Amino acid sequence: MHLEGSCHCRAVTFRLESAHPYPFMRCYCSICRKTAGAGGYAINLGGDYRTLRIKGKKNITVYRALMKSAAAKVRTRSSARRHFCKRCGSPLWLWDPDWPDLVHPHASAIDTALPVPPRHTHIMLGSKPGWVEVQATRGDRTFRGYPEESIADWHQRL
Ligand SMILES: [Zn+2]
Repeated sequence: MHLEGSCHCRAVTFRLESAHPYPFMRCYCSICRKTAGAGGYAINLGGDYRTLRIKGKKNITVYRALMKSAAAKVRTRSSARRHFCKRCGSPLWLWDPDWPDLVHPHASAIDTALPVPPRHTHIMLGSKPGWVEVQATRGDRTFRGYPEESIADWHQRL
């Protein structure tokens, strides 16, 4: 599927090809919630990084979250690069050099009409605060952490 996206102020616009465009995966981790999910979660799609074309690159800023592991006291930088518009603050996409062929645009930044997912997956529920209500419906899957099933696997299954 061809996807067109933009930030709110349109200083950044982008397009890409996606084999996995269903916005089914709701991530409740603190990074997604605080940087991209005021309602309690963010939704990332799966896209082909090689097809990503960007206008307004100079208006992009990248955030790498500091992560504290439970075992060690050291804090490490997340390998994931979270891209935002530095003018309006819109979250745009996530790219991780550990999986360089993939890019994960935020569903909220996509202007193309996305297909409605028949089932949802709710992940990182162990990180959500009490006020966030999980709107899980029949057939949805829920996980305290990360699921085994990838975005691509979900598309295969359904
Ligand atoms: Zn903007």
